[in-house]
Amino acid sequence: MSDNRQAELRVVDHPLVQHKLSLMRAQETPTGAFRQLMREVGLLLGYEATRDLPLAEAEIETPLERARLPVLSGKKLCLVSILRAGNGLLDGILELVPSARVGHIGLYRDPRTLQAIEYYLKLPEDLAERDVILVDPMLATGNSAVAAVSRLVELKARSVKLVCLVAAPEGVERLHGVFPTVPIITAALDRCLDEHGYILPGLGDAGDRLFGTK
Ligand code: URA
Repeated sequence: MSDNRQAELRVVDHPLVQHKLSLMRAQETPTGAFRQLMREVGLLLGYEATRDLPLAEAEIETPLERARLPVLSGKKLCLVSILRAGNGLLDGILELVPSARVGHIGLYRDPRTLQAIEYYLKLPEDLAERDVILVDPMLATGNSAVAAVSRLVELKARSVKLVCLVAAPEGVERLHGVFPTVPIITAALDRCLDEHGYILPGLGDAGDRLFGTK
């Protein structure tokens, strides 16, 4: 992954994405609606994240004639969810690319140091032949994203991009400070982190809101 590309931060300003994200931010939005919205926004962000998939021409017989038409060139994708909140976004993206392989990385934040600690890892064996879309709704301190990307790089993923719902400037700076060639695709770039590492204005704890655990 050592090339000369600029650090890319893409904020998806599509009105549907922005509207749905605002509904997710509202504290009165119940778990079921939050989960459904996360899936829908995941699908829309996945649409952006797959925009550069290469096409090849194939001969296709329409009801009227034979034509050379664009089809996906068979690029191998792997979606990797950072547990547990990543699973909410994952579901939406999987609707777009149902044949993608899926990996999971379990990370929790030490509440005192805010460092990411890995507790689970399951990835396809052929990761070195795959382009990874890493999903985690909240890019806060960036520690989880850096830990996950480090693992994927160590295991020789062909490329990595990160899809998140909300990013904090601190997290973007941290991830791009370590991995400048990892594109970040997000629905929002928020103001800052609070003293506990939560994003402001943010949407609270994405995992708790997704699974109704608080
Ligand atoms: N993780 C979350 O779920 N929310 C935040 O605001 C920051 C990290």
